[in-house]
Amino acid sequence: MTDTPEQFAARAWAGAGADGRLPLPAQTMWGVFPFEVEGLRAVPLQDPVVPEPPRSGEGNRPCGRCADVERDVVWSDDRWVLTGAGPRGLPFGALLMPRAHQDLGDLDDRHAADLGRLTVRMDRAVRSMGGIGRVHVNKWGDGGAHLHVFFLARPEGFGAAARLQPAALGGPAAAGAAGGARR
Ligand SMILES: [Zn+2]
Repeated sequence: MTDTPEQFAARAWAGAGADGRLPLPAQTMWGVFPFEVEGLRAVPLQDPVVPEPPRSGEGNRPCGRCADVERDVVWSDDRWVLTGAGPRGLPFGALLMPRAHQDLGDLDDRHAADLGRLTVRMDRAVRSMGGIGRVHVNKWGDGGAHLHVFFLARPEGFGAAARLQPAALGGPAAAGAAGGARR
């Protein structure tokens, strides 16, 4: 059994400073961390909110994807859609979603097998574009209940061994590459 929300919050509060903020995590010291640490601070801790408020597509909140499942679709089959609405500035960004309103744990074995195959194929396809250091695959879902898996292409030369500079993500060359790659 993991901590209850109250127990977890109590441990977090115990680690906070007098200003109610946790110290910076170790990730801020990684070479790939895109900000200088000086002047950076964590937001003040807050108490847990239980039960959690409904996400988009949950409870009485409508699901934007189900309202227009074909929006921004660049590839699809009878069970999945891939949209090009990824973050701006990267060489490639896309979201993979089931057509039906399901979260990760709702997928049946057929969809689960699809997701594994499509994830591997996406990795190969995006890296074949050239100039891609790595394809990052992410799933959060705190904002929306309709499963959406991010595929984010990290430009070659900006990995953990090279310090990633925010200015490199929004420059004219990167923006042009993103426009050409999305469709
Ligand atoms: Zn939905």
